[in-house]
Amino acid sequence: MLSPYHPAPSECPICKQSAGFSFKENFKSDSSWSLYECGACAVQFWLPLVLPQGVTYEEEVAYQGKGEVLTKDHARAIAEGYWNVRQFLQGPLAADPNTKGKKLLDIGCGTGEFLFVARELGYSAYGIDFNRHAVAFARERLGLEGATVADVYEYLSTRPRQYDLITAFEVIEHVPDPGAFLDLARESLAHNGILVISTPNRDRYWGRIDPKVDTWDYPYQHLTRWNPKSLKNFAERRGFVTRAFRRELPVEWFIGKLKQAAGIIMGKPRPHDARTVSERVRGGVGFSRYQLIKRVVVALCGIPAGVLFLLGFEGIHMYAVFQKKR
Ligand SMILES: [Zn+2]
Repeated sequence: MLSPYHPAPSECPICKQSAGFSFKENFKSDSSWSLYECGACAVQFWLPLVLPQGVTYEEEVAYQGKGEVLTKDHARAIAEGYWNVRQFLQGPLAADPNTKGKKLLDIGCGTGEFLFVARELGYSAYGIDFNRHAVAFARERLGLEGATVADVYEYLSTRPRQYDLITAFEVIEHVPDPGAFLDLARESLAHNGILVISTPNRDRYWGRIDPKVDTWDYPYQHLTRWNPKSLKNFAERRGFVTRAFRRELPVEWFIGKLKQAAGIIMGKPRPHDARTVSERVRGGVGFSRYQLIKRVVVALCGIPAGVLFLLGFEGIHMYAVFQKKR
């Protein structure tokens, strides 16, 4: 048995209980980490659990790749390309006829595609992100004046009961204190307010067989790992009721495998998704044709992915709608 780089803590940094921890794996890059699972909350966390160096992290947020294609004309189509945003758009929150005047805050808004769509739906849309380049892009290119550079803890702590809806797509796995994050989000929600969260599902396909396949799911990007049970329990213990919960079909995974296979057959094996969207569009396909092709491929691959899902192979993400308990 491999010995951990860092010893187990006496108290869970996530739920603050001491219920025993199981060591999962070590990870080494420019620093070293150990992954533990808490016996009480079932959340997996890396030690040391610290916020990454802001500068390095900011550089790594890939928004430049979208720069050329992300315009007001394309924002909705690009937003619809994200599985988590599609869950929102296909659900009752987007179909709400009374969005006018409702305040929505998107935490980790990035370049603002989702915020743009939320504003189109009628919401008074606000967004925060620590990446000043992404926020500047959202403001200048998409005209999103509600987007600002802010630290989530500072921003939320000064805005009690302000929002009808808070969305945090792929955020919780990055924050060093998810409990404080959920508590603040709850405080910032109005009566019966809704919190939408999406995050990688650690129970996905190879995650259970060989977690090292997904090189993106490691520190310093990701500090915690969640599965449906731990995410629901954690939110419910902090004053939320689960209203909807969805797990992704392994469509992207399947497409990635097809691309790999095609690369091997054609003698040009390449890493999955090596090119950015704008490079692909620049490659002569054009934006609308690219979107159409993508939609057809996703629909066709949905069938085998659905079969795999039934066999227990889950996709990358999960999506939850929580409502603030009275
Ligand atoms: Zn815990």
